[in-house]
Amino acid sequence: MVNSTQSSHRTDNAVELDMLLGYMKELIIPYVDSASNKEASVVEYYPPEKLEKLVDFSLPENGGGVEGAFKSIKETLKYSVNGWNPRFMDKLYAGTNPIGVISELLIATLNSNVHVYHVSPVMTMMEVHVTRAVGQLLGMGANAGGLLCPGGSASNQLAMVTARNTLYPSIKDTGYMPRPFNPSAEYGKLKIFTSKHSHYSIDKSAQIMGLGVDNIVKVPVDEDGKMQVSALEKCILESIDLGETPFFINATAGTTVMGAFDPIQAISAIAKKYNCWLHVDGSWGGSVVFSEKVMNEKSWLVGSHLADTFTLNPHKLLGVPLQCSMLLTPHNGNLLFAKHNTLKADYLFHGNPYDLGEGTLGCGRRPDAAKMFLSWKYYGRCGLGDRIDQALATAEKFANRVKERASRGFKLVKDPCPFLQVCFWYVPPALANKPVDQIDLSKITRILHKKINHSGEFMIDYAPLEGVPDFFRIVINAPTVDCDRDLVRLLDAVERVAKEVDWEN
Ligand SMILES: *Cc1c(COP(=O)(O)O)cnc(C)c1O
Repeated sequence: MVNSTQSSHRTDNAVELDMLLGYMKELIIPYVDSASNKEASVVEYYPPEKLEKLVDFSLPENGGGVEGAFKSIKETLKYSVNGWNPRFMDKLYAGTNPIGVISELLIATLNSNVHVYHVSPVMTMMEVHVTRAVGQLLGMGANAGGLLCPGGSASNQLAMVTARNTLYPSIKDTGYMPRPFNPSAEYGKLKIFTSKHSHYSIDKSAQIMGLGVDNIVKVPVDEDGKMQVSALEKCILESIDLGETPFFINATAGTTVMGAFDPIQAISAIAKKYNCWLHVDGSWGGSVVFSEKVMNEKSWLVGSHLADTFTLNPHKLLGVPLQCSMLLTPHNGNLLFAKHNTLKADYLFHGNPYDLGEGTLGCGRRPDAAKMFLSWKYYGRCGLGDRIDQALATAEKFANRVKERASRGFKLVKDPCPFLQVCFWYVPPALANKPVDQIDLSKITRILHKKINHSGEFMIDYAPLEGVPDFFRIVINAPTVDCDRDLVRLLDAVERVAKEVDWEN
């Protein structure tokens, strides 16, 4: 590479950037290409103590310039998880795509802040348009819109804050002082209702807001992991009987472990009846709104237009780079959040309704919407929908492959799989003749999981779920994952590593 060291800030930025981009391109194109190699590892994994010896984390007094920075960049590529590898199936996100990288480059180039319109006019309008368009796909109508938040948890939190500020605005000024401690309060202890399988960010929001996690009612789920609506109403009635104030119901569209969709329409009727805010956490499953096939054939998002707020993470199912999460509403888009959350910071906000930062919990904001906007421009609604359809078809095919191996010890946790998580157990042949109650399936899952991930051939996860032993959870997301090439290979790998274990001990 280059010998010159760069110790001061140069002023000919264009020349310098041209040079750096050239070097960067030389590194990242082969890196992305390598991920499609059959032999490529997902990661060369080391624990922190070892990694600190392999990578130079020291921070210098004098700049190392191009050489110093690119040495670090090379090390980073070498020891990081390569998300472009289709055998990365550990989490609900997959690798991104070329337009994703380009959109990040655009954002980095502009370095603009979408808190006020006049410093980021185009990106602000991208956010307005893309949230309106997604809201309208959800059926939220002419006044649909919303805001981007730094992740699904942040979107859920902004939803809960907005619900509280809308329904009980006095709390904004006087603080949270419910009955019976404050006999004249218009509200009792504020209660949140969400299913047992919902994401922990709901609990975290309640904790941050000072409502207390004990004031979250975990509503039971049915066999498929969906919230039981009759149980929801019963829980609400019990709470009202105690003098409490139910105010927030969260329905999950695509639960994190099983991929269940709570029945939004039926839950909405309960929310209306008891004057509760209806939030839908569609961080994982909300993106299916892009698939015409899903919207025609499945009831997953029926009632989505009835939500007061709806979280959707394009950074998960749509392959948009992390972070990209939107909070949508039919009630006037970003203006709903501005109206209920503004603190009149007049030095920053001068009354422009396009100053999106009025509505969020933070101040400065990344233009994450631009990534979704460009992805939509590039692939079209249909292209994004195809991505969903393809993932669903692959998941179904893979689930069948798991079933075909029933006699070899594989068993699906749920058949058919509710969504894109294919969950299964495996009993090694050495234990096949043991009585079921003497087999510790959780332990088997965890031993095999560790062996598989450490090999670097795959990156997968296992999950606990109340009432059943831990199981493998394989997330089908990336359009590059192929059932026969990658997923059947995974089943082979499970059988292979199982042979290396002495199961009798
Ligand atoms: C992933 C997920 C979240 C959290 O989203 P982040 O962007 O990781 O904060 C919330 N809810 C559900 C259902 C999820 O799957």
